[in-house]
Amino acid sequence: MTHGMYPNRDAYDMVLEAIDRGEFKPGDKLVESELAVRFGVSRTPIREALQRLETQSVLTRDGRSLVVSSLDHDELAELYVVRSELEGLAARLAAQHAGPEEIRVLWTMIDKDRELIGRPDLLSRSNKRFHRQIHLASHNRFLIQQLESVRRSMALLATTSLEVDGRSEKALEEHERIVRAIEARDGPEADAALQEHLSRAFETRLLAESGADGNFDDGDGRA
Ligand SMILES: [Zn+2]
Repeated sequence: MTHGMYPNRDAYDMVLEAIDRGEFKPGDKLVESELAVRFGVSRTPIREALQRLETQSVLTRDGRSLVVSSLDHDELAELYVVRSELEGLAARLAAQHAGPEEIRVLWTMIDKDRELIGRPDLLSRSNKRFHRQIHLASHNRFLIQQLESVRRSMALLATTSLEVDGRSEKALEEHERIVRAIEARDGPEADAALQEHLSRAFETRLLAESGADGNFDDGDGRA
């Protein structure tokens, strides 16, 4: 089916991860031949990956080219509502189903994150891993699938709320509260803690984008 070094799924993952890491930002054009060279795969799997990402609305057709989609203000707000409810549910289920090893991994992640304060780029990546770990700890495959779809849309955000001064420390404290609740097997508290965490993050993002923090906006109005 493919003649590249990697099967299709990997070309797809590589492109999506590059968008998620901010290497390609909303509005950037993705060119099949350039991606093939960049990732060292043949054009067929890249073409299939791009088609799939277009179907998933991660990419948008602009004339003959494909560009990374951007979210408008309303879409961003709608995304946060869904993300907040689904992640809250994941935390609630994690409080019931997480194994002791999974809970220890969450604590280890928080410990490591303390050393990353002041490095928003690394913290942002680590934050995604932390949230993903909670999704997995829910042990509900359907929920994990839905959260994957949310994650794809979150990849379209060009900036991280962790860039705002003081937000990293606050976010870590909020992560601690979530894990404490999971460890205490307190589902409702884990749910509430996670939803409040995302609500603070969204608030920070809105404030920053309204211009309250000059460092945050990358200057071209991307949401
Ligand atoms: Zn977080």
